Amino acid sequence: MDAAIARQLLAMERRRVERVLGYVDTETRAASPDLVEAVAGASDREPADAATDLTTSMLALTHHRRLRLRLEALREAEERLALGLFDRCKLCQTTIANARLEKVPWAMTCRTCAQVDEVHD
Ligand SMILES: [Zn+2]
Repeated sequence: MDAAIARQLLAMERRRVERVLGYVDTETRAASPDLVEAVAGASDREPADAATDLTTSMLALTHHRRLRLRLEALREAEERLALGLFDRCKLCQTTIANARLEKVPWAMTCRTCAQVDEVHD
């Protein structure tokens, strides 16, 4: 894949993640008092309401964590791009297919290595 295209795809994904993260940050902050309250059990509301709030807070936190991980992967991909290694599989050193980089511009491994990785997870 052309480095300029890879750069563009990475920048697009970064903008998307940062935009969503800004939104999630607001939501996580808003949800946090409920989370604290629900965990402490010091709620004057119905237990079902507290449970719903807790679930919402947990989902927001999980989503937030996943976005943070994605940002980290993007940062590493940008470094690899700067080094001219963005399409080189980190594990077997073969060229990562264009089709894979188009779908997952931050991919660090070829499809074969990614599948092996998943089996081990
Ligand atoms: Zn590989």
